[in-house]
Amino acid sequence: MRIQVLSAHLANQIAAGEVVERPSSVIKELLENSLDAGATQIDIEIEKGGTGLIRVRDNGSGIQHDDLALALARHATSKIGSFDDLERVASLGFRGEALPSIASVAKVTISSCCVGEERGWQVSCFGGEAALQPQPVPHPQGTTVEVRDLFFNTPARRKFLRTERTEFSHLEEVVRRIGLSRFDVAITLSHNQRQVKNIRAAEDLEARQRRVATVCGQEFIDSAIEIDCEAAGMHLWGWVGLPTAARSQADMQYFYVNGRVVRDRVITHAVRQAYQDVLYHGRHPAYLLFFELSPAEVDVNVHPSKNEVRFRESRLVHDFLFSTLHKALAEVRPVSAGGSVASAEATLSAAPFVGRGSGSGGRSVRPQAGGGADQRHFPLGVAEQVGHYAALRGSGTAPDEAQEIPTLGFALAQLHGIYILAENADGLVLVDMHAAHERITYERMKVAWASEGIRSQPLLVPEGMAVSEREASVVEEQAETLNGLGFEIAVAGPESITIRAVPALLKAADAKVLVRDLLADLQEQGESRLVQERINAILGTIACHGSVRSQRRLTVVEMNALLREMESTERSGQCNHGRPTWVQLSMAELDGLFMRGR
Ligand code: ADP
Ligand code: MG
Repeated sequence: MRIQVLSAHLANQIAAGEVVERPSSVIKELLENSLDAGATQIDIEIEKGGTGLIRVRDNGSGIQHDDLALALARHATSKIGSFDDLERVASLGFRGEALPSIASVAKVTISSCCVGEERGWQVSCFGGEAALQPQPVPHPQGTTVEVRDLFFNTPARRKFLRTERTEFSHLEEVVRRIGLSRFDVAITLSHNQRQVKNIRAAEDLEARQRRVATVCGQEFIDSAIEIDCEAAGMHLWGWVGLPTAARSQADMQYFYVNGRVVRDRVITHAVRQAYQDVLYHGRHPAYLLFFELSPAEVDVNVHPSKNEVRFRESRLVHDFLFSTLHKALAEVRPVSAGGSVASAEATLSAAPFVGRGSGSGGRSVRPQAGGGADQRHFPLGVAEQVGHYAALRGSGTAPDEAQEIPTLGFALAQLHGIYILAENADGLVLVDMHAAHERITYERMKVAWASEGIRSQPLLVPEGMAVSEREASVVEEQAETLNGLGFEIAVAGPESITIRAVPALLKAADAKVLVRDLLADLQEQGESRLVQERINAILGTIACHGSVRSQRRLTVVEMNALLREMESTERSGQCNHGRPTWVQLSMAELDGLFMRGR
């Protein structure tokens, strides 16, 4: 067979294989085009899960009469004109192949009217056969793209489609993801003539939170910490779910890079590391995060569907994401007034029972202890104890200084050797003694560990190990890092190494397996957190065994000491396994339980 140039139609169908997998991929491309056109209102109509009809109408800039036919031509775009443009592209599209690809496997009609023009124009293309002479059509400013009978001319592709309901739920997820990326754009979605979504534009923080709640659920926003951090030209903002609100599925993880929905290993790794220490095994954190940096720092031209990116400085990005999130999560502990907004938020929601007792299911706002709060409104018991506490500390502070009431209050009693009951400004605090103590011990051990460094333990018999050439060179290149981690490894040949020493705490682990994982991690990350992760796991186990067993009786002094330590320990809002260590029942909630109107 001789070589021949593919017809434009066939080339488009081949491209469609990558870009148009199902109705949800069509909606993704159309929504991106509307956003690129500066639309602030987008209305989506779907029929039969998207296989019958996908219609997207926007109020964006519109397409000029003379450009209409070009919009359907392959490699035709208004978004870039040179390689330089590509290097710092800020629009969502730039490949100029979405519309022609879609048009090669469906019946497409585009109607559009530009700013300042008095009438609209329309072109159609049925499975690659285009009627490219625009016809006049009434149309308000903006563009409507109509895609009918998807895959009508490619039956093999159609066979891969699932039920109407499944296709629609994929499509809905895309609308949800894109909808979350732009708070300033209003979106409506209807299926089979019934409106199923009406996402309004959100201007202020409160409106944004409401919008997040309509998309991700009120629960998500109620148990999330707000993030906003800017450094070295990078900006990370959004919401991360508290470890205690982690999910069994990785289904609520939204990450945007410059407004683009992406899946990326560097990002996933950084987020997972940030939660490493506070998440119950097998649980997945929930998050909605927006990451912004100069477009020149990200390569978006990695995959036709444009949901993968490459960072030019991936190490820097990884560390920025990790440290920002890690720090925010470390702040999750009981705080008193004057804590940062993030911490105050965290405290609010660290008590999962808040709002439940009253049956409202909503978020109840806890007044903060301290500040200008009026002492007389505090329960008498607390007032007395404040005096007692101040006297004990010898500070001479007068009992009427409200800020002396600690966040977790003062211990009243112990319940069945498991829970501590304490009274604070808001009402009743319940603490899981063992969980709390375990976390405190663990955090202390980590600090001690960090200050003394990683101790190395020589192996009695050095172990030889076969590796790839690449792995051997990693050993050479990263000798210093490896030594710092407590390893002593020598290169014995082009494809073999000798392990002479391992970190003392990991001496019981299988040295070869450990080194193998470590080298893989080093190759990928340049530096490894793996060892720290394992050491943390071991410290966690020791901490668990070293902590107060349930059933042990504590004196009131011991209980109060534990409460004070919780207040000063990082991450003490949850135990090592991600369970909460304490909950708050406010007076209002207690009143609610007894139907006692105030
Ligand atoms: P790309 O988005 O990569 O440029 P597309 O095939 O998706 O390629 O679209 C081709 C061109 O059609 C775009 O560059 C843009 O100029 C125009 N276009 C498509 N959709 C719209 C829209 N909703 N509003 C305005 N212009 C649009
Ligand atoms: Mg596009």
